[in-house]
Amino acid sequence: MQKIAIVTGGNRGIGFEICRQLARMGIKVILTARDEGKGKDAVRKLQYEGLDVVFYSLDVTDEQSIKRLAGWVERTFNRIDILINNAAINIDEDCTALKADINKIKETMETNVYGPLRLCQALLPIMRKNNFGRIVNVSSGAGALNEMTTGSPGYRISKTALNVITKLLGNELVATNITVNSLCPGRVRTDMNPNGERSVEQGADTAIWLADENVETGKFFRDRKEIPW
Ligand code: NAP
Repeated sequence: MQKIAIVTGGNRGIGFEICRQLARMGIKVILTARDEGKGKDAVRKLQYEGLDVVFYSLDVTDEQSIKRLAGWVERTFNRIDILINNAAINIDEDCTALKADINKIKETMETNVYGPLRLCQALLPIMRKNNFGRIVNVSSGAGALNEMTTGSPGYRISKTALNVITKLLGNELVATNITVNSLCPGRVRTDMNPNGERSVEQGADTAIWLADENVETGKFFRDRKEIPW
């Protein structure tokens, strides 16, 4: 049976490349984006490459939008095999924790933490019905306590919190065939990080691996290798 994957923030950057690579593996990809025009343009590009990709509108900060997606997926496919929580914002890069704007931290948490958690909550019942799932949380070394430096306080806090979600859900689902893992893609050249050294292909690699292989659950990876939290 053809696997079905959802990718958040699929219209550009690493998310777009993840959509492409999953679809190249024969997986049906639901490319989601908050901007319908940008999302549909991205889907058209991949369909032009002969790939099985469809668009669904999703703003990860909008609970109703997440519920609509989950309802549509259940009615249309009655399964979901892969969820890639990729969408994120980094809006307080030049800020210190001391001077951090709490509203920016809240906004970042909505997108980078509560969005992925709500998506897991909405889609896990469908995964459980088939006792299969691969949840991949695109985190960052910026959230690793082990690598913590300064700057981007909201972003760093959000990625550390996302890793907590990975660990909690990994533990809660340990007796199932559903894995939940975090990854750091490295410094990837995208709108979020124009000076990144890595290509989007390199940035997508560990996400594709986690979506495809039966990797141990509740871990944090970079370059397909486990890294400390
Ligand atoms: P990007 O080019 O800025 O793309 C971010 C994506 O997230 C865009 O598609 C954006 O949509 C989407 N997004 C933001 N808020 C959203 C919302 N509320 N609902 C739905 N989509 C939303 O960033 P990227 O570099 O590809 O980053 C992808 C992931 O990798 C992120 O989780 C990021 O934290 C992580 N990461 C990146 C790097 C790096 O060096 N690039 C390093 C470590 C981790 P719009 O186009 O509508 O804004």
